[in-house]
Amino acid sequence: MANIVLLGAPGAGKGTQAALIKEKYSLPHISTGDIFRKNIREGTPLGVKVKAIIDKGELVPDELTIALVEDRLAQSDCEGGYILDGFPRTIAQAQALEGFSKVDMAIDIAVESEAVIKRIAGRRMCKCGETYHTSSYDREDCVKCGSKLYQRDDDREEVVRERLRVYEAQTKPLIDFYAERGLLHTVDGSGGVQATFELVCKVIDGNC
Ligand code: AMP
Repeated sequence: MANIVLLGAPGAGKGTQAALIKEKYSLPHISTGDIFRKNIREGTPLGVKVKAIIDKGELVPDELTIALVEDRLAQSDCEGGYILDGFPRTIAQAQALEGFSKVDMAIDIAVESEAVIKRIAGRRMCKCGETYHTSSYDREDCVKCGSKLYQRDDDREEVVRERLRVYEAQTKPLIDFYAERGLLHTVDGSGGVQATFELVCKVIDGNC
């Protein structure tokens, strides 16, 4: 049983590490960003509501995001644990989370901001959930499902700057929030995907 929160700047590799954790530990991967993007793609009322906010690099209101996650964590697949990726993103969200679930560990993937900007610029997505980077993959279609890869609208440079500003102001304080509760584990995310994953596994194995 492990209720895991992944912290880290945009582009630190939270989604990539979450996918690996999901596979190795059979835990559901809950990414609020993925949930919002799916709703935008499908044109749901939620998607329509959040699209303009996300395209600007701003945060979706706490109330809406908290209700969404509370609902998701109540589903039966989360009974044996979960990986939260992209939530909480504000102190208010972290406090709300304490009210409906008990976090076992918060893993902060630490990466320099220079590296983060480079990573985001080369990031490519597939609608099936796979992510790629142009530095290691030069095709335009997905290996898994064959769909055409795309760049996230909010991965454009001017939006990335705003997302990093929002991260510094609103999300970074969560590092102290979880440190104060003795739940924070920092891993160096500047190495490759596998090197980072080994560090992440050490934290999980040492705390389960
Ligand atoms: P991500 O895929 O985690 O980078 O999220 C993409 C965008 O979705 C963010 O820039 C926000 O606009 C929105 N978003 C995702 N998670 C949250 C959250 N926990 N609180 C508010 N907005 C969020």
